[in-house]
Amino acid sequence: MLTIVIHHEKCTGCKGMKEPLCVKLCPGDLIMIKNEKSFIRDPGDCWDCMACVKSCPYGAIETKLPYELGYKDAHLIPKRKGKIIVWELVYSDGRREVFERQVRL
Ligand code: SF4
Ligand code: SF4
Repeated sequence: MLTIVIHHEKCTGCKGMKEPLCVKLCPGDLIMIKNEKSFIRDPGDCWDCMACVKSCPYGAIETKLPYELGYKDAHLIPKRKGKIIVWELVYSDGRREVFERQVRL
């Protein structure tokens, strides 16, 4: 199982938007906003689809990789650049790999 982590220092609550992107796109309706920060209501119900991770324009949501995939502290950080999403894979030893993919939204 992956783990979704929301970095509240980066989350703006998508102020000014009718509905924050992570809230709008979570297929399980698991994300809520409280005091202009997003929270996962019940992490146990998250099925790691990463829709919220990919949607955040501020890179505030991160995916921690499980031990079997990435060893301790390995994680994936997405950054949106228009129609491109850049995934940065950070290994536990600090090595980094970058992948670019096109997005539809
Ligand atoms: S999309 Fe990002 S900035 Fe917007 S509410 Fe969600 S986590 Fe916060
Ligand atoms: S990973 Fe998918 S199911 Fe889990 S909180 Fe994000 S959007 Fe919802």
